[in-house]
Amino acid sequence: MRKSDISNLIFIVSSIFSFIILWGFPDLDISLFGIRWHRNFIFHSIIIPFILYKLLLSKKEKILSFLSNGIIFGAAISIGVHLIIDVFQPKNVHFIIVSTLVRKTLIDDNIWLGLNGILGLLIAKKVNDARVENVKDIKRKSKIE
Ligand SMILES: [Zn+2]
Repeated sequence: MRKSDISNLIFIVSSIFSFIILWGFPDLDISLFGIRWHRNFIFHSIIIPFILYKLLLSKKEKILSFLSNGIIFGAAISIGVHLIIDVFQPKNVHFIIVSTLVRKTLIDDNIWLGLNGILGLLIAKKVNDARVENVKDIKRKSKIE
């Protein structure tokens, strides 16, 4: 097996793990604050994948980069898709002090969920772009050696 194949495999496996682990993350607000405060705006946002992206994104061709990038990729897809699905399951988002920004509509809630969901997918795309570049670097180096 070539180094590029092993690297991609590590990316895929760590993505799947991260996806599964974080799938239920937004709904942890139920067990923490009770069903009354479900859809807390922090839990139902892209903050966790964004922090992971800022801290862990690696543009090196090292094996460890594929592990950390896989974790971010899985997290961004997992939470991003969760939030997009939530758009189609009408319920308001709790913005802590005010439980709705626009009374008697779900416009604000759906904009929040939708924008955060799309941001998640954009983060995932950026991470995948980094993976593609890292694989190119591996292939380039193996030709020189
Ligand atoms: Zn949810």
